Amino acid sequence: MKIKNYINGEYVNPISNNWIENYNPSIGEVYGQLPDSNSQDVEIAYKAAETAFQSWSETTLDERSQILSKIAKLIIEKLPELAMAEAKDNGKPIHVAKSIDIPRASANFQFFANAITQFASEAHESVGQNAINFTLRQPIGVVGCISPWNLPLYLFTWKIAPAIAAGNCVVAKPSEITPMTAYLLGEILTEAGLPKGVLNIIHGLGTTTGQAIVEHPNIKAISFTGGTKTGVHIAKVAAPMFKKLSLELGGKNPAIIFSDCDYNEMLQTTVRSSFANQGQICLCGSRIFVEASIYQKFKTDFIAAVCKLKVGSPFNNNTDIGALVSKTHLNKVKSYVDNAEQYGGKVVFGGNLVAVESSENGYYLEPTIIEVNDNSCILNQEEIFGPVVTIMPFNEESEVLAMANDVSYGLSATLWTNDLKRTMRVSKQLDAGIVWVNTWLLRDLRTPFGGMKNSGVGREGGLEALRFFTEPKNICIKYN
Ligand code: NAD
Repeated sequence: MKIKNYINGEYVNPISNNWIENYNPSIGEVYGQLPDSNSQDVEIAYKAAETAFQSWSETTLDERSQILSKIAKLIIEKLPELAMAEAKDNGKPIHVAKSIDIPRASANFQFFANAITQFASEAHESVGQNAINFTLRQPIGVVGCISPWNLPLYLFTWKIAPAIAAGNCVVAKPSEITPMTAYLLGEILTEAGLPKGVLNIIHGLGTTTGQAIVEHPNIKAISFTGGTKTGVHIAKVAAPMFKKLSLELGGKNPAIIFSDCDYNEMLQTTVRSSFANQGQICLCGSRIFVEASIYQKFKTDFIAAVCKLKVGSPFNNNTDIGALVSKTHLNKVKSYVDNAEQYGGKVVFGGNLVAVESSENGYYLEPTIIEVNDNSCILNQEEIFGPVVTIMPFNEESEVLAMANDVSYGLSATLWTNDLKRTMRVSKQLDAGIVWVNTWLLRDLRTPFGGMKNSGVGREGGLEALRFFTEPKNICIKYN
């Protein structure tokens, strides 16, 4: 199976005819190839986007909205095929792809199909000066969108939908580790009648294809989701060209559990916030802090609940934890577990590789709980991004706040308490772009999404995304 680039509405091979192997992580085998695109491919994609821009930027909002809605509908029509492709490419349980990833990819298009019809800008009357100012929000031109492997179609579409809704043309690159559903999206774009060149999808490595997008002098904005290290690099490359940048990066999110919470709901949700998608969600709560008075009970009950999670093939409907995305990633995650003691932690559950029947070479790891006693340890400071969480007791609100914030990241935080005053006090002080209280990953697409500190710059979602993908121009008209 050969994945191709989607440029100017056509599937094409990379110029170099070089290919990269694509793995199925659930069995640890190569099942296809994807283009190893270079700067020439990026240039061709750029030219297609540039050519399409004038006409696309002048389409009516209604026309754009209808095309985006059509894409949303077609994604739902092809849900079984897309979910199967996502599970095979990424290792995630197919029921998760069916119920979360693919519906959300469709929702991203539908949301921005609606949002663009409601997008408005400000006007300011300069009272006493006989002048009116209004803000014209124009599309930027050709923009670059680069996405990671953990929620492949979900995060890819979260960028490209607002970009094209706002009237831009796009050169987009999905992760080379999970290219399949972005490839399949090409057919959908054609079927939905998206004009040629509006959205070009090219495949390849970050250091070549991705780098060529970021370096391109006429790609004027980059929306990137991925690791913090890559984000730092992209920011350095883009800064001298004054590109507009949106960076959604890593996290090391605290889950803070007070004894007055609704215990059963907290327990159930904490299992999910720890291990959903094999713990490979930037929003997973990977540092769990529990009030000392309920710590021992929590530890016992949490272990008992995690013990019930089934590690298995992504294609079994009763699998809770599928395969990790790659061998390299599995080794990285496992090394934190293997060195847990040296890092000051104690594995209290899991930690072993799992040989899944008929898929013995797949990349499976038990959900793992590590007890720590110092937030400054590596296990609490570095993003592991796998099915591994730490647990630790705390006594005081001020103590847990200090620990929650004592980390270089600031993406999300989860807070469990029924005390309203505490909810407000703690939420206001947490270094996090998103705080969930008595829930986790409850998403409303209108809300700003993103992180503080080393978790990124800028926000996606709702009008924030449409503002990012447009250039505000103030027009001042004097009258007599
Ligand atoms: P990554 O940074 O390795 O890769 C992300 C994307 O960037 C890929 O498409 C990759 O090919 C590309 N890339 C790599 N080097 C590049 C370069 N020099 N120039 C341009 N593009 C380049 O990240 P990953 O391993 O795919 O994803 C996991 C990371 O993503 C984790 O750190 C996770 O926390 C983060 N993440 C963040 C969010 C968020 O919303 N904040 C969401 C999901 C994942």
